[in-house]
Amino acid sequence: MSSSTSDRRLSELWSCVTLDEASSLIDSTSSPFSLQNFVGGQYIAPHDSLTNSSQHITSFEPKTGRPIYTLPCTQPHAVEAAIKAAKAAFPSWSKTARAERSAILWKVSELLQQNREVFAIWESIDQGKTLDRARVEVDRAISNFSYFSTFILHEQTAARMVDGVALTYEHRSPAGVFALISPWNMPLFLLTWKIAPCLAFGCTAVAKPSEVTSMTAFLLGDIFQKAGVPPGVINIIFGDGATTGAALVASPLINGVSFTGGTQTGIAIRRLTAHQIGKHLSLELGGKNPTLVFADSMVPSVRERTIRVAAMAAFENQGEICLCGSRIYVEKSVYNDFVRDFTAYVREKYVLKQTVGAVASLQHYDKIRRYLELAAEQKATFHLGGAPPTLNEDEAQGYWIEPTILTDVAKNSAIQIDEIFGPVVTITPFDNEQEAIQLANDSEYGLAAILLTTDGARMRRVGEQLEAGLVWVNCWLVRELGTPFGGMKNSGTGREGGEHSRDVFTVVRTLHLPAY
Ligand code: NDP
Repeated sequence: MSSSTSDRRLSELWSCVTLDEASSLIDSTSSPFSLQNFVGGQYIAPHDSLTNSSQHITSFEPKTGRPIYTLPCTQPHAVEAAIKAAKAAFPSWSKTARAERSAILWKVSELLQQNREVFAIWESIDQGKTLDRARVEVDRAISNFSYFSTFILHEQTAARMVDGVALTYEHRSPAGVFALISPWNMPLFLLTWKIAPCLAFGCTAVAKPSEVTSMTAFLLGDIFQKAGVPPGVINIIFGDGATTGAALVASPLINGVSFTGGTQTGIAIRRLTAHQIGKHLSLELGGKNPTLVFADSMVPSVRERTIRVAAMAAFENQGEICLCGSRIYVEKSVYNDFVRDFTAYVREKYVLKQTVGAVASLQHYDKIRRYLELAAEQKATFHLGGAPPTLNEDEAQGYWIEPTILTDVAKNSAIQIDEIFGPVVTITPFDNEQEAIQLANDSEYGLAAILLTTDGARMRRVGEQLEAGLVWVNCWLVRELGTPFGGMKNSGTGREGGEHSRDVFTVVRTLHLPAY
C-alpha cells in the first residue's frame, strides 16, 4: 500500500464521528483496513523490513462477526528493529527535562480529548463494548496522560541522616527500554496506563496490544506524531502473543516488561525472562473476585445500592474486567431475597435496556459457551441466561451472551474456580463471617474483592483479611491513579499507579555523602 493510500485510509478512520458512519465505512470498503506498525515515529508499510510479515491476522467486529481490519503478525527480527528504534531514542529522551516531557504528554492528553468520540467509536466497534462504556475508558486514557504528565513535576526524593557521619539520598533514573503488553478487554485504557508512566519517567518503549483489539493503538501513533513525541520514544507493533509478544519480552535489549493479561501468559513471561534477573517485571494478571453480601447491606435504606454495586461489579463491560466480582457470596438470612432482587435488577438494567455489549471474539464466545454448557450438565440453576448456540465464523452474527446468573454450583466446579471473564456470575450462601472470608479467599487468585456491609467494624475486620490487592467497600471500580494497583497470589506481582509506577520504570541508587 503506498503511503498516500494509507494516509487516506487513516484519515477516513479519523473522519467518523458516529457509530453509523464508522459502520458504513467498514461496509463500503472492498478489503478490510490494514493496520501498520508505528516505528521510529512513522507508520511502516506491511512489506517493509520493520514489519516484515507476509502473515496477517484478521480482526472481526464482535457485534456483527464481520471482518474489520487486518494486522501484520510482526516477526522476531522486525520486533528487534522496533526495540533498536526505542534503544536509539533512549539516551536523549531519558535526559529530556521533566518539564519538556510533561508538556509533550499533556499535549497527548489534549489531542485524545479532542478526538474522544472517534476513539470511543472505534473502541466500541473493535472490542464489542457499548459506546458509553468506551467513552468512560477513553476518559481514563486521557487521565493517564494528564496524571503522569503532572506527577513528574512534583516528585520528591528520600534523604536520611546518619548523625555526624553521612547524608544519604535516593537518586532515580529511567530504567531503559520497556515492552508494554496489554490485553483485549480495555484496549486503549490499559495500553495508555503503561505508555503514559513509561514515557513520563523517561523510558522508551515498544508496545504491543492484543491482536484481537489493535485499532485504537493504531490511531494512537498519529496522536504521538502530532503531539511531538520524538521518533523512537514509543513504537507500536502488532501481532500475536506467541510470535510478536514472546520475541519482544525475551529480547536482551529490553530492560523491563509491564504486562497485563492472563495468569498463564504471565507465567510464560516469567519463564522467558527467568535468566534475565535484572529485568523489571510488572505482571497484572487474572482474577476470580468475590463479592460478599452481608445481611445488614440488604436493609431497605441501602438495599438498592447493594444490588446495584453487585450487579455493576458482575456485568460491567460484559464481565470482561479483571476486577469483576464473579463469585457472589450472600449471608443465608437474606440469600433468597438477594437472588430475587438481583435477578430482577439485572434483567431490567442489563438485558432489557441492552447495556451489555458483545464479548470480544469468537474464541472467547466459545470459551464462555463451554462453561455454560458445563453449568447445565452439572444441573446448576439458571436464574437468567443460558448456553448460547455454537457459532460458525462464516455465518457468525456477533458474539452475544446474555448476562447469566447461576446458583447451585458446587464449590469445586470449574465454574466457581476458573476465571470465565464474561457475563456470568454464581451466587452461593454463607453462614457467618468466618465462612465468608474463607470462601472469598479460597482461590488461586487475589486481585480484588467487594465487601457489602453497613457495619463499620466489619468493614475493617473482614476487609483486612481478604486476600486481594484491592478491596472495595460498598462501591466498585473507584480509582485514584496514585493508589497501588495490583494483585496477590496468581493475580500478579508488582504494583502500578503514581509512585508505584515510578518503581516499575526507574532504577534507584543510594548515594552516601560523608559529613566531612
Ligand atoms: P492474554 O494473557 O492471552 O494476552 C495478553 C497480552 O499478552 C496480549 O497482547 C497477548 O497477545 C500477549 N501475549 C500472549 N502470549 C504471550 C507471550 N508468550 N509473550 C508475550 N505476550 C504474549 O490475556 P487476554 O488478552 O486474554 O486478556 C484477558 C486476561 O487479562 C484475563 O485473565 C484478565 O483477568 C487479565 N487482565 C488483568 C488485568 C489486571 O490489571 N490485573 C486487567 C485486565 C485484564 P495476543 O492477544 O495478540 O495473543
